[in-house]
Amino acid sequence: MSSEEKFDAIVVGGGLAGSAAALTMARAGLDVMLVERGKFCGAKNVSGGRLYGHSLETLIPNFEAEAPIERKITQERLSLMTPGGALSFQYNSDKLDALKCPSYSVLRSKFDKWLADKAEEAGTMVLAGFNVDEIVIEDGKAVGIKAGGEEFGADVVILADGVNSLLAQQLGMKAELEPQDVAVGVKEVIRLGEDVINDRFGLEGNNGAAWMMAGDPTGGNLGGGFIYTNKDTLSFGIVTTISDIGRVDVSVPDMVERMKAHSTIAPFVKGGKLVEYSAHLVTEGGLKMMPELVRDGILVAGDAAAMVVNLGFTVRGMDLAIESGRLAGEAVLRAKERQDFSAASLSSYKTALDESFVMKLMKQYQNLPGLMEDHMIFNDIPKMADEFASMVYKVDGGQPVALPMIALTVLANNGGLNGLFGLGQKAWEAL
Ligand SMILES: Cc1cc2nc3c(=O)[nH]c(=O)nc-3n(C[C@H](O)[C@H](O)[C@H](O)COP(=O)(O)OP(=O)(O)OC[C@H]3O[C@@H](n4cnc5c(N)ncnc54)[C@H](O)[C@@H]3O)c2cc1C
Repeated sequence: MSSEEKFDAIVVGGGLAGSAAALTMARAGLDVMLVERGKFCGAKNVSGGRLYGHSLETLIPNFEAEAPIERKITQERLSLMTPGGALSFQYNSDKLDALKCPSYSVLRSKFDKWLADKAEEAGTMVLAGFNVDEIVIEDGKAVGIKAGGEEFGADVVILADGVNSLLAQQLGMKAELEPQDVAVGVKEVIRLGEDVINDRFGLEGNNGAAWMMAGDPTGGNLGGGFIYTNKDTLSFGIVTTISDIGRVDVSVPDMVERMKAHSTIAPFVKGGKLVEYSAHLVTEGGLKMMPELVRDGILVAGDAAAMVVNLGFTVRGMDLAIESGRLAGEAVLRAKERQDFSAASLSSYKTALDESFVMKLMKQYQNLPGLMEDHMIFNDIPKMADEFASMVYKVDGGQPVALPMIALTVLANNGGLNGLFGLGQKAWEAL
C-alpha cells in the first residue's frame, strides 16, 4: 500500500451497512476500498439474529437462494416473565410462511462475510485487519483515511463503523453515547442439533422461531431476553439499557445464566453446548441520537447513524443498515456523475433516506425510547400478567371469581387503574 493510492470511495466498517454501500458502488464501476478492523468482515459483529429480508432483497434479488441464512422465521413467541412464571403468546401461521419478504435467523460472522464477499466479487478492495484511526480532512473536506500507519485518498468516505462510531465522534458529527441511549447485548450461541430444536420448538424443515421476553430476564431493567432458532444452534441472550445496570443486583452475564435456569426456558436449552459468546452495544436512543449524516466528502450509515428501532417484540437494525448503506452508495454514484462531493451534492442521501422506510420508521417511533424508560412495562406488567393468569387458571372448589373481578383485584394489588391508565396514555402519545 502506498499513500499515493486514491479511491473513488472508501467505506469504513465491514458490517452490513458498509458492505451494502461498497457493493452498490463497486457494481456501478467505482473504485472502492472497504476497511474492516476485524480479522474478516463479520468477525466482530453481533445481532440477536433476525434479519428482515426486504432491503437485502432490493440489493440482491433472490438472496435467499445463496445467502448463509439459518432458518426462515415462521413462529413468533413473546413472554411476559416473573421469577416463577411466564405468560406467553405464540403465533404460527401459514401467513408468516407465505410472506413475500419474510425474516430469517442469521449468524453475523457467516452472513457479513458473505455480503462482504459479494462486494469484493463486484470489485471492492477489502482490507481486513486494519483499524481506521482518522479521517483525513483538507479545507474542511474529507479526502481520505489513515489506517495502519498508511494514508489512503478518496473523493468520499462512508462511515459505517457501528454504534459508537468513534470516527464520527472525532469529527464532531456524533455526540458521545449517553447511558440511557445505548444498551449492552450479551449473546450466546448454544448448539443443540437440528432435530432437538425442531422437537422442542415444534418446527419442521427450515422453519424457525423468534422468541422475545420481557420482565424477569433483565430483572425488570429496560430490555429483554431473546432466543432465535438457527439450523442446529440457538442464539440466546439479553439486551439491557446501560443506565439501568446496577438498578438490580444482578450482573448482565448472571442475567443470562438466570434466564437459562428459568423454568420456562430451561427445557429449551437443556443439554446445549456453548459454542460462541459475544457482547456488543445496541443503539436505543432513536431519532434524537441520530448524528449529522452528511458533510463535505462524508456520509454516515447504519448503526453509526443510530438507525435502529427496538419495539420490544422485535429489534430492527440490520434491514436499516443494508438500506442506508445502499442509499449512501447510490448518493455517491450521483455525486460522481456531477464530480461534486460537497455536502450539498451528497445530501441526496438524506432525501433518499427521508423517502425510504428508514426515516419513516425512525420518525414513527421517535418517542418510543421515552416510553420504554417507564419501568412499569418491564416490572409491573409481567407481574400483573402472572397474577391474572394464576387466578384465571385456579380451580380449587372455592368461590368462583368472575373475570372482571380478577382484573380489578390484580389492578388493586398493583397500584390501581391510575398507573395503567397513565401508561396507556403515554403509549398512545408515543405510538
Ligand atoms: C445483542 C444484539 C441483538 C440485536 N438483534 C437484532 C436483530 O435481531 N435484528 C436486527 O435487525 N438487528 C439487531 N441488532 C442490531 C444490529 O445488529 C445492528 O443494527 C447492525 O449490526 C448494524 O450494522 P452496521 O453495519 O451498521 O454496524 P456493525 O454491524 O456494528 O458493523 C460495523 C463494522 O465496523 C467495523 N469498525 C468499527 N470501527 C472501525 C474502524 N475504526 N476501522 C475499521 N473498521 C471499523 C466493526 O468491526 C464492524 O465490522 C442487534 C444488536 C445487538 C448488539
